[in-house]
Amino acid sequence: MRKTIIAGNWKMNKTPSETTDFIKALIPLVDGARCEVVLGVPFVCLQNAVEAVKGTAVKISAQNIHFEENGAYTGEISAKMLCDIGVEYVIIGHSERRQYFAETDVTVNKKVLKALENGLKPIICVGEHLSQREQGITEEIVSMQTKVALCGVSVDDMKNVVIAYEPVWAIGTGKTATSDQADEVCGIIRRVVADMYGNDVADGLTIQYGGSMNAKNAAELLLKDNVDGGLIGGASLKTEDFSIIVHAAE
Ligand code: PEP
Repeated sequence: MRKTIIAGNWKMNKTPSETTDFIKALIPLVDGARCEVVLGVPFVCLQNAVEAVKGTAVKISAQNIHFEENGAYTGEISAKMLCDIGVEYVIIGHSERRQYFAETDVTVNKKVLKALENGLKPIICVGEHLSQREQGITEEIVSMQTKVALCGVSVDDMKNVVIAYEPVWAIGTGKTATSDQADEVCGIIRRVVADMYGNDVADGLTIQYGGSMNAKNAAELLLKDNVDGGLIGGASLKTEDFSIIVHAAE
């Protein structure tokens, strides 16, 4: 059985003190959830978040790392720094980072390798643009992103990898993929992973859907065979909505 993971991506929202208050309010709402609950918070909120989830099953994620171990990279944060404060996951290659910060499949791969080397679990984001879907090349795009992101990742490390299928046209737009579309592309990703690592690894891999998932549509998306959770932006900023999604995953 693979793990269902509901992860919030707060993007550039909430202050450290708001983080503490949010988590205090969220904990009783998701207590005892039968899926993994992860909160992806801004760098400066990580310490408060790690403190606030102590003694609970909720895990904390960063939203980015640098691909080098350390050095002259002003303004950057390393995987080692995050592990040191108790962060467990890191979102890598989100489409906003690809769009606004020039991340490429190659830098995504370097970050994935660095995360794994330091014991951080990467949530790797892949997904096509609307024009690519309209051209009928979704499969090629997503397969290529997956293959490059995983280049050099060992079979053993695959147990710590999560992939999030996030069609770019669905992120923050209110246009959710249909549950069939989400299932189809998550299935394509699973086949790519099966070709690279075999069926056991592919069957054990958590593949999330992300893109305007909310309290209303989560249950239908999460019912699909190949959809093992969600990466949730906007709806993760409200405790009520986020907890509804967590319970939909059960
Ligand atoms: C995201 O940021 O990964 C995301 C899916 O955002 P939203 O849920 O707001 O579309």
